Amino acid sequence: MAEDLYKVLGVKRGASAAEIKKAYRRLARKYHPDFNAGNKTAETKFKAISEAYEVLSDEQKRKNYDLYGSATPPTGGPGGSGPYGKQWGGMGDFNFQGFDFSSGGGQGGGKQDFSEIFSDLFRGARNEQQSTTRGPQRGQDIQHSITLTFMEAIKGMTMNFKIDRSMVCTSCKGFRQVKTGKKTTCTNCGGNGKQKLRQGNMVFETPCRSCDGRGYFDSKSCDNCDGAGRRPLAEKIKVNIPPGVGNGTRVRVPSKGEAGLFGGPEGDLFIITKVDEHEFFERKGENLYCQVPISFVEATLGAKVQVPTIDGSATIKIPPGTQTGQKFRIRGKGVPALRGEQTGDQFVEVRVQVPRLRDERSKELLREFETLNPENPRENLHVSQ
Ligand SMILES: [Zn+2]
Ligand SMILES: [Zn+2]
Repeated sequence: MAEDLYKVLGVKRGASAAEIKKAYRRLARKYHPDFNAGNKTAETKFKAISEAYEVLSDEQKRKNYDLYGSATPPTGGPGGSGPYGKQWGGMGDFNFQGFDFSSGGGQGGGKQDFSEIFSDLFRGARNEQQSTTRGPQRGQDIQHSITLTFMEAIKGMTMNFKIDRSMVCTSCKGFRQVKTGKKTTCTNCGGNGKQKLRQGNMVFETPCRSCDGRGYFDSKSCDNCDGAGRRPLAEKIKVNIPPGVGNGTRVRVPSKGEAGLFGGPEGDLFIITKVDEHEFFERKGENLYCQVPISFVEATLGAKVQVPTIDGSATIKIPPGTQTGQKFRIRGKGVPALRGEQTGDQFVEVRVQVPRLRDERSKELLREFETLNPENPRENLHVSQ
């Protein structure tokens, strides 16, 4: 460690941790091999600043360095050279494995710092110029919830409402960038469109990340949409809700979602329906259930009874001797078929109403009725009367 580590990073001896980090960040960005493909001087420089940073960013190592001129005390390591001299020193090729780019390395704070800084570094480089050669991207779907009355859900309806979605930017057509009409050379690759990527001791040549291998830029971020490729749009739309929707039915309205990017199609709008309850009908799947009162005479002698249906009324035949709770089915009067399901049925449960007699004549008739029909409904319970 011949060179003064503070000088390498261009900071004063008393520099704060933040100052050291900032200096390193600036220099690493300038000399990183990814940005200086094939440049040996940059590589050496990068090696030196990384080594300096590894020592000066670690409180203990920095203290040792200040005291002994080395990251480890003279008595500590073999020969007192410290691990860094061995790792970096004297090798012709830069050993990239010294840098753990993944943050999971867990070899102490220094390494974590490196990966954090490098991920920043690359993120920055990519954001400078958004890639213009991306494939079409479909817009996202939108969900919109509505509440319908019971009958609206069963009969279907046309609804008008306003949705907040987006439209493709008219200036850049969703490509986020507009042509400037002139070419600017890419500073990252110097215009040759290539960059070298090192992994371990291997060197790969890849298309430049900044300019996608073209070596120049001829576009700039679109001002009309601030580079988003789309603009907000509040749109009034008319939607047909088909008959038979239920709680949680998704009605798809094609191409009314968010605008696509890079020439991609719009997403869809999904209307999610919620259905209010009804005071008379109860809906279970495609079938409807209801309760209808009948008189004790109707139940006893039988009758034809009119009951409400969703589209008017229907007649059910009550046979003589009908009991409370008996169910009658009216076919095809349930919920209309949605998407190929069968139209449901309506089930009518009858409730026998017992008369409250006020006149003596009726009571007499019933007593007479009882003598004609001596019946014990609790016979099976084996209790005395
Ligand atoms: Zn635009
Ligand atoms: Zn480039």
